Amino acid sequence: MKIMERTVQVKDLLTKSNLPASDYVINPYVGCPHGCKYCYACFMKRFTNHSEEWGQFIDIKQCSRAISKKRLQGKTVFLSSVTDCYNPFEEKYECTRKILEQLTAIDCELSIATKSKLIRRDVDLLKKCKKLKVSMSVNTLDEQFRKDMDNASTISERLKALEELHENGIYTILFMSPIFPEITDFRAIIEASKDYVEEYWFENLNLRGSYKPRILEYVKTHYPQYKQLYHEIYTEGNMAYWQSLSRAIKAYCSKHSVKYINYFYHEKLVAEKQNKKAASIIAE
Ligand code: SF4
Repeated sequence: MKIMERTVQVKDLLTKSNLPASDYVINPYVGCPHGCKYCYACFMKRFTNHSEEWGQFIDIKQCSRAISKKRLQGKTVFLSSVTDCYNPFEEKYECTRKILEQLTAIDCELSIATKSKLIRRDVDLLKKCKKLKVSMSVNTLDEQFRKDMDNASTISERLKALEELHENGIYTILFMSPIFPEITDFRAIIEASKDYVEEYWFENLNLRGSYKPRILEYVKTHYPQYKQLYHEIYTEGNMAYWQSLSRAIKAYCSKHSVKYINYFYHEKLVAEKQNKKAASIIAE
């Protein structure tokens, strides 16, 4: 597929983050050729002048201003929130590599998220980062399902990259995201990767906007046995599946001493729990 590419000049690479776990975000690109069918970042298309579909364009950011050491000192920085900083164009433009060269000299906490084996190219620089966590997204071991959902590295390439990072002393996280009900087998993924993964993060599939009908149609066609379950979750808003899966993850991780964070509908579950507690107090 032909990806429309263009170079854009920006004044600053740093963006103040509104994500809970980071002070700043750096997105070296706008757009993402990985084109995940469930991409939450596709809303970014509205802010560009692109007529192409999400996944079919990429803006390569050029910035003459150095990253401010002063601003990042002691801060947390996330690479990247609305693109994959190791998308295939990084091989040619090396925007992420140039950013890393600057970040290695700054005492900040860096978190990198990717779905690409290309991160292996930068092991030399990653090893120089003072505080670093790398997360790799893996939500299946089924290469066909992966291929249906994104154009990023294969699952075996992602796992291999995690293994290599781990061997080089880099803190590795397997980000199980998004978890597709019944399609993602969290136990099998942990089993396949536990020797070189420090920590697991879990996030549920959240369907909203334009990709909701597309994903539901895909499930209906390829996994008709789960059609009713997806209807209950995504049309009727039934949370029982996620609550039960949360308990199963907790039990499994406790039993096998797996370090993890559950990011399932976090705020909503907490609020529900509080409401239930309040209701039971009133009923007493
Ligand atoms: S890799 Fe991330 S940013 Fe890129 S298309 Fe997939 S979900 Fe979106």
